[in-house]
Amino acid sequence: MCIFCKIAAGEIPTHFLYESEKVVAFKDLNPEAPSHVLVIPREHFENAAELAAVDSATLSELFGAARTIATFLGLDGYRIVFNTGASAGQSVFHAHLHLLGGRAFAWPPG
Ligand code: 5GP
Ligand code: ZN
Repeated sequence: MCIFCKIAAGEIPTHFLYESEKVVAFKDLNPEAPSHVLVIPREHFENAAELAAVDSATLSELFGAARTIATFLGLDGYRIVFNTGASAGQSVFHAHLHLLGGRAFAWPPG
C-alpha cells in the first residue's frame, strides 16, 4: 500500500482538514508555503491524468474540497498544482492536488 493510501485508510495517524467518502485533505509534510494542503482521492490512482480518465467526478471533488479549504483558511489567493509524472516533479505516485497559499507566487513556475 502506498504512503497516501495508508494516510487515507487511517493507518498513519493524520489530521484531516477535510474528509468525505471519496477524498481527504491534510497538511503537506514539507510545506512550500504558509498554507500547503494536499487533497487526495481515497482510492489509489497514479496521478491526476489517470484519475481524470477513470473517475472525473472525484477529480472534480478535489477542486471543490480545495475551494472549501481555501475559504476555511481565509486564503485570498492560492495556487493549485498537480505534478504529473516524474519530469514534472511528481514524487508520490498517488494522485494529489497541492493547495498553496499565504504568500505571493512567481510566474512562470520553476
Ligand atoms: P509531489 O512531489 O508528488 O507532487 O508531492 C508530494 C508531496 O507529498 C510533497 O510535497 C511531500 O512533501 C509530501 N509528502 C510526502 N510524504 C508525505 C507524508 O508522509 N505525509 C505528508 N503529509 N506529506 C507527504
Ligand atoms: Zn495510494
